[in-house]
Amino acid sequence: MTIVFVETDPAGEVTLTSAEAITFARTQLLPDGGAATSREVSGPPSGSPEAVVIGELSDAAVEELGRLGVSISHHLEHPDLAEYSAAAWAQAIVDVTPEAGTLLASGTPRGMELMAHAAVRTGARMAANVVAADEEGLLRQVHGGTAFERLSLDGDLQVLTIAGHACTPEETTPTTPEIYDYDLTVAEADLTTRVQRTEAEAADDASGLTSARAVVGAGRGVGSENGFSEVLELVDHLGGALGVSRVVTGLGWRPHAEQVGQTGSRISPDVYIACGISGAIQHMAGIEGAKTLVAINTDEESTMVQRADYAIIGDLHEVVGAVNEEIARRRG
Ligand SMILES: Cc1cc2nc3c(=O)[nH]c(=O)nc-3n(C[C@H](O)[C@H](O)[C@H](O)COP(=O)(O)OP(=O)(O)OC[C@H]3O[C@@H](n4cnc5c(N)ncnc54)[C@H](O)[C@@H]3O)c2cc1C
Repeated sequence: MTIVFVETDPAGEVTLTSAEAITFARTQLLPDGGAATSREVSGPPSGSPEAVVIGELSDAAVEELGRLGVSISHHLEHPDLAEYSAAAWAQAIVDVTPEAGTLLASGTPRGMELMAHAAVRTGARMAANVVAADEEGLLRQVHGGTAFERLSLDGDLQVLTIAGHACTPEETTPTTPEIYDYDLTVAEADLTTRVQRTEAEAADDASGLTSARAVVGAGRGVGSENGFSEVLELVDHLGGALGVSRVVTGLGWRPHAEQVGQTGSRISPDVYIACGISGAIQHMAGIEGAKTLVAINTDEESTMVQRADYAIIGDLHEVVGAVNEEIARRRG
């Protein structure tokens, strides 16, 4: 059985990345939850994955799970699980999924942490950043997404995280998932580390970044904390989002939630316009999914320019300023 840990957003809806993980489970894993040849399972990939949801399960989420082909949703609600605690949540997931052949989550920070805990607690083998599964086994990203590794995992249970944008969420013939509720006991020892308070700033909301169709990237080349006016104006014109390099967040010019790359968000917009970003491996890992890459850089030898579909060599303030003026002029 394939069981997916599903995250919901503050509105109670299934997150985009969890929808991707469910689709991955339904379309790429074999019916018993296995993907690797070691499982000796034949037949087409298919099957109805099950979901685990911790916390409130809204009607909208149940409907979406049904549209994504989920047959059963294990629903865990307990006062001790109300705030996130990696150990307690992972143990709860493990407790209610003894039948799992594959336990997986999207490769978000929370999904990664929970699956790692679950693998340790069950003694299962784990593969992170999986992008595909077929009769030959699993394919996963390594070295920040610059290389791929084929592998298969032994054992009765395999634990996976699915790389963001490894597949596109696909709805199927809608079903009404059965909801299983549980009476849980949470061990005090598992609650030693838990979230005590959450503070959300509007600027810390990266959800717009991962779903934006147009992202304007800004790197060290903007020059200073006050150098973002042109790129922010372009973001506005395009109705998109701002993404930045680690240098920019490291210098405290912009919040970490806007960081793109290996240790930031992985994005797949229709267009990514990289302004003053050199194209370090760790940054490129976050933009592999971009359909069109535009570079604006003073250095024509930079990796970003070399990898771009279109490049403009010049000072980003001048170039982006001119682009903004032209957009404003054409829009009257
Ligand atoms: C473990 C690890 C994880 C990391 N994770 C990430 C990550 O998630 N995301 C990430 O981005 N980085 C990450 N990094 C850092 C990464 O290696 C680079 O240091 C970083 O991406 C460089 O940022 P940058 O391109 O803004 O700066 P730089 O490399 O300094 O490049 C600045 C660019 O701006 C250009 N430029 C300068 N002035 C102008 C101008 N006026 N107009 C136009 N162009 C101009 C320059 O030609 C240059 O190409 C990570 C590093 C490590 C070790």
